[in-house]
Amino acid sequence: MRCHLCLNISRQFLCENCLNTILIPNPSKRVLDSGLIVYAAYNYLDIKKFLHTKHTYYGAKIFAQLTKHGLLPLVKELTYKGIYSLPIDDHTRSGYSHSAIIARELRDVLKPLYGKLRAKNKIRYSGQNLHVREKNQRDFIFTCKKKLDVVLIDDIVTTGNTLNEANITCKKNDVNVLFAITIANTR
Ligand SMILES: [Zn+2]
Repeated sequence: MRCHLCLNISRQFLCENCLNTILIPNPSKRVLDSGLIVYAAYNYLDIKKFLHTKHTYYGAKIFAQLTKHGLLPLVKELTYKGIYSLPIDDHTRSGYSHSAIIARELRDVLKPLYGKLRAKNKIRYSGQNLHVREKNQRDFIFTCKKKLDVVLIDDIVTTGNTLNEANITCKKNDVNVLFAITIANTR
C-alpha cells in the first residue's frame, strides 16, 4: 500500500519516515478542575486531519499507529505493573471505538477493561460548543470491580468535562484513577 501522507510505498498506513519526521510526538500534561492529570501525546492541531478520519476504516488504522508511536512510549514511562486501562464510552458508533483502539494498542502495558464505563447520554461532542457540552453531561454507567488502579483513556481532551465526569464517577465507585491519557490535547 501507499503511505496516507507522502504516498510512498509503505507496509502501513503511515510510513516510518513520516512517523519519524512529521508525526513526532509532542507530549503535554494538563491538570483538570477535578485534579485529574491528563497526558497527551500530540498537539491537536498537528494531527487534526488524521483525527477527522477516525470514523473510517483508515482512521482506525491510523489511530492505532499514532497510539503506538506517540502514546505507548509515554505510558511505559508513567506506569507500573498491575494497572488497568478504562477506555471511556467504548461502544462502536461507526464500526469501531476510538478509545477501545487506544486501549488495545496499550494492552501490553495496561490491561484493558472494555465496556465498563458507558455514557447514558449519547450526544456527540465533536463540533459542539462549550454550552452544549456543559449542558449535556455524559451520565456514565459504571460496571466494574472496585479498588482497582486505572488509567482513563479518551481520544482528545478539549474542555476536559468528559474526563472530569468519568473521574468523579470512578471515585464514587471506589476505583482509583491514577491519571488520564489521550492522543491529542487541544490546548
Ligand atoms: Zn509517508
